[in-house]
Amino acid sequence: MKRDCPYCSSSKEKVSNHGHFVRASDQRIMARYYCTHCCKSFSQATFQKCYRQKKRKLHPRIRELINSSVSQRRIARILKVSRTTVARKIKLLGLHSDVKNFKYFHSRSVVTHFQFDDLETFEHTKCKPLSITMAVETETRKIIGYEISRMPAKGKLAKIARKKYGYREDERKKRRNLLFKDLSQRVSPVAEIYSDENPHYPPTIRKWFPQGTHKTTKGRRGCVVGQGELKAGGYDPIFSLNHTYASIRDNIKQLSRRTWCTTKKAERLRDLINIYIDYHNNVLTA
Ligand SMILES: [Zn+2]
Repeated sequence: MKRDCPYCSSSKEKVSNHGHFVRASDQRIMARYYCTHCCKSFSQATFQKCYRQKKRKLHPRIRELINSSVSQRRIARILKVSRTTVARKIKLLGLHSDVKNFKYFHSRSVVTHFQFDDLETFEHTKCKPLSITMAVETETRKIIGYEISRMPAKGKLAKIARKKYGYREDERKKRRNLLFKDLSQRVSPVAEIYSDENPHYPPTIRKWFPQGTHKTTKGRRGCVVGQGELKAGGYDPIFSLNHTYASIRDNIKQLSRRTWCTTKKAERLRDLINIYIDYHNNVLTA
């Protein structure tokens, strides 16, 4: 099917058929077109999101493995490609998932109950902690939004971190507000919101959901040693969220506790979270 020229935006009346070629990476036949206005040629592949990708066949496998607690090095070994290829593919898949997640978030019916909390991890060293604020719909366990923020180290590490890496801004409040601003556009204004008893949460909720109901629950000890997400002792009001966090920690290698794999850059963690959210909402909880 003819398309408008991507170079000069001429309409398809000025575009003529210009033969075919076999795409090397997946042996598919691609139609080529020629624009009589700007004298340039293009093909149907020009418009595809994996345009110029040479190993497009690997994408579904990488998506599955990265969401199944496999490290990037091991993915490279299993698929017999280089580590750089895997790293580049994750960047690309993260971008695709980001677009897909945005469409998914905005195509859902209005959310009436959701739970949110912070999950802590770090970039490069424990002296540079990161916080992932995530909102999960209570009934369906679908992830409906998230933000990653930098924060200063706490406790014994605080002094060492300041000495070694200098001042580190606490972005949590700013990012939480961004998340809630986004949520306020697609969540019912009278929504029921569940969280733990963090004193910083109520002002944000009052600001973006003045008519909403905020219900808090006491933090509890985890039921599995070394894993704080799933709580011991019966009914957990924020189970949907804690279960999702436990699932993230189990499925993304970097976020597992006591692992060799660490996040090197917050931006790359964002890619992994995007890929995971897409997989979680469309495969795991489908
Ligand atoms: Zn043209």
